[in-house]
Amino acid sequence: MDGGRNRRFGLNTAAVHAGEAPDPATGASAPAIAMSTTFVADELGGFSAHDLTAESGYVYARWGNPTVRMLQSKIAALEETEACLCCASGMAAVAAVFFARLSSGDHLILSDVCYAGVAELARTTLPRMGIAVSIVDLSDLTAVAAAIRPETRLIHCETPANPILRLTDLAALSRIAHKAGAEVSCDSTFASPIVTKPAALGVDYVIHSLTKYIGGHGDALGGAVAGTAEKIAALSLEAGVHYGGVLSPFNAWLIARGAATLPIRMKAHGQTAQAVAEWLEGQPAVTKVLYPGLASHPQHALARRQMQGNSGMIAFQVFDKASGEALAARMIEELEIIHYAVSLGHHRSLITWIGTEAILESSFRLTGLQEDGYRAWAGDGVFRLSIGLEDAVDLIADLQSVLG
Ligand SMILES: *Cc1c(COP(=O)(O)O)cnc(C)c1O
Repeated sequence: MDGGRNRRFGLNTAAVHAGEAPDPATGASAPAIAMSTTFVADELGGFSAHDLTAESGYVYARWGNPTVRMLQSKIAALEETEACLCCASGMAAVAAVFFARLSSGDHLILSDVCYAGVAELARTTLPRMGIAVSIVDLSDLTAVAAAIRPETRLIHCETPANPILRLTDLAALSRIAHKAGAEVSCDSTFASPIVTKPAALGVDYVIHSLTKYIGGHGDALGGAVAGTAEKIAALSLEAGVHYGGVLSPFNAWLIARGAATLPIRMKAHGQTAQAVAEWLEGQPAVTKVLYPGLASHPQHALARRQMQGNSGMIAFQVFDKASGEALAARMIEELEIIHYAVSLGHHRSLITWIGTEAILESSFRLTGLQEDGYRAWAGDGVFRLSIGLEDAVDLIADLQSVLG
């Protein structure tokens, strides 16, 4: 079944079938893995990927591979975009967009709160290459408008943002950016294509760490960028072919198997997370719960407008840094089901403590009013809880055993 924007089938059907077809030679119902790095030519061809056209067959695996292409079609179908490029990791996908779209003298506006690796890449590597970076709270659209310069080329956001689950109004942000002649990239990893469709709201580059919800099982690194055929073709040539951070066919195959169940998994993640978030709000040891599905989330109205349900990501606080660190130590020792580990979006529940002092120093480097703004959401730190596919009652009992 073809992927892409004009798919004829529902989301569940697309997740299972898009990009796939029974093997014409054997009739195999499940897709094969094409591990071959090179492909036998049937006519005289050139030595540059610049010579490739949409009709070209496979030549070399860094230029294109059938198993990776299957996953690209599936993700494009889920995001309802024309095209998708898969990369070796989520960071490779973000780096592909930054390096392909920004040159020396250009200006990037970056969310003050985002995945730590992206925060560090933009604060150290980009300035070294002559790219100016402004760090802005993208939930404040007045601040975004004020930060725009004539040389602003890209605004990079993340919604919900790691780790505090602050949202960005994607339609409003895209309008502001496009009026100024800039593009928008959105890291939609926390939402997945099921919960938010950034391209429909105007975003130019929809980015995912496939390592998280789309793969869904914690056993394969991968990344993706979805968008129009024209933008993704240019990105594939530069970032895929020339930077070389392409996805391995084996990982593409694993991730496609995970993606087939993404719609039903997201429904389960969201339902269980809602129950756990509501329970957490009633716990005396918990001082704040951040979950877009709770009426207490500061942007609950935006969540209802922009998101179809919620993912399994919850952030919560306890009294202060000392009690947070003590609880984290207790979790490492005593949790029975939930793994104390980084990463998220897996079928196993994961939890990790993100201390405010530590993340401000290592990654976000916010000061003054921006630091105050972060602390207003995160306090001295948050537990980032990724709700898996276990029973809510068991997860609650596991959390109760350490909070009680
Ligand atoms: C994990 C993550 C990334 C990086 O993805 P990798 O696959 O680990 O390289 C980027 N953005 C967000 C929001 C993430 O959670």
